[in-house]
Amino acid sequence: MKIIIAGAGAMGSRFGLMLNQAKNDVILIDGWQEHVDEINKNGLRADFNGEEVIAKIPAYQQDKLSEVDFTADLVILFTKAMQLDAMLKSLQPMLSENTKVLCLLNGIGHEDTIKKYVPFENILLGNTMWTAGMEGPGRVKLFGTGSLDLQNLGEGQEEIAKEVVAVLSKADLHANFSTDIISSIYKKACVNGTMNGLCTLLNSNMADLGATSFADEMVKEIVLEFEAIANYEKVPFDREAILTQIKGCYNPETIGLHHPSMYQDLRINHRLTEIDYINGAIVRKGKEYGIATPYCSFLTQLIHTKEELLGVK
Ligand code: NAD
Repeated sequence: MKIIIAGAGAMGSRFGLMLNQAKNDVILIDGWQEHVDEINKNGLRADFNGEEVIAKIPAYQQDKLSEVDFTADLVILFTKAMQLDAMLKSLQPMLSENTKVLCLLNGIGHEDTIKKYVPFENILLGNTMWTAGMEGPGRVKLFGTGSLDLQNLGEGQEEIAKEVVAVLSKADLHANFSTDIISSIYKKACVNGTMNGLCTLLNSNMADLGATSFADEMVKEIVLEFEAIANYEKVPFDREAILTQIKGCYNPETIGLHHPSMYQDLRINHRLTEIDYINGAIVRKGKEYGIATPYCSFLTQLIHTKEELLGVK
């Protein structure tokens, strides 16, 4: 399959590398010039579960696509949420009326951005439990295993979605066809919408946060706001299962000692966060639907304040 990875940071590199290893025709498109140059010069280099892997995959700067002759069967979107609109704009010349576009970003409501550029019936939404980390331009760290769920948005496009599932599974990406993807996107957004912002603001890992006497109450209030929005949109929402999953993050023997990705982005790497697409999305929807979202609103404001205090742009 001819596949464009649009946003070839940590996660895009993982998917690009594994799909390339499974003999798909893959290209990478990214906005970070140094990273693109390094991949083209020395290959995409990965510490892949302890093994050094170098993949020769063509990479292109997203602002210089006019002369690239490649029409994709599938585009996998893996930018950060705030980069998505610009990436879709750049991709326009490379999409045909048959190109399917799979969005695997964290966050809620990306379909509203994608449908400005892609016919609704070509949009696939997904949710992934894979992880990856950037080690520098052209270099990523890929450890552990994962999976992903995906579903077509357009009616009658199930077979196409299942075809994409098959291609991803052949590359050992452990893909599954979902019948309730929006529900699982909300579930993951609740984990991110509690652990990310709170640990980042409180300078804490998940286990230490979970051990405080205030964690459960704060987490519950935030989750209740996600639930109110989900209910309004008639998205199935299993509060108890979600709270159990969040509490699972506190376990120091599994992932509790980790700092969530927002912590890494803001506190370690001084990069902008995706807060506007997690808690901020709930605030926007709340305003539209007439639902109060004070916890999500305050959390979003505090994260933006921290971005400003750190001078992050
Ligand atoms: P990433 O930050 O690694 O890459 C996103 C974009 O930022 C890429 O275009 C990349 O080239 C660019 N970038 C990265 N470092 C940069 C730097 N130092 N200077 C300039 N540009 C830089 O993002 P990611 O972790 O691949 O995440 C992509 C999406 O997937 C996000 O929505 C994220 O929430 C989601 N996600 C990530 C993980 C994970 O483990 N990383 C897991 C699940 C979902």
